[in-house]
Amino acid sequence: MALRCATIAVTPHNVSEQMSKTSDKNCRARLVTLRNELVELSEATNEDRAPVELDQQSVGRLSRMDALQEQAMQLETERRRQQTIARVDAALIRLDDGEYGFCISCGDEISDGRLDQDPTVPTCIKCAS
Ligand SMILES: [Zn+2]
Repeated sequence: MALRCATIAVTPHNVSEQMSKTSDKNCRARLVTLRNELVELSEATNEDRAPVELDQQSVGRLSRMDALQEQAMQLETERRRQQTIARVDAALIRLDDGEYGFCISCGDEISDGRLDQDPTVPTCIKCAS
């Protein structure tokens, strides 16, 4: 099964083992970069998700509500970030198995445009809808 990657345009005349390996590396690099960014962001915003101090005399009631709201938003953002990291990990596993770029549901090729938009996407457009 040929390896596919949206970032590399493989022409029919040019498909060689070397080409697939380059393409494979590009997919991996893109996914690993994305993963690193997410982990860094997660670590950088760790403090924003810390429990809000409710008994601080210096902080007024409204500010505390703001702080709680902000913390809730940060927690939600982090939850989505962790989901994306899990998707990246799953994509990396599919890459290892030579199944990257193929729909996990029906096995059809996922369009390059779709992969380009989201390299972690596991399904084709038909199965996603
Ligand atoms: Zn599908």
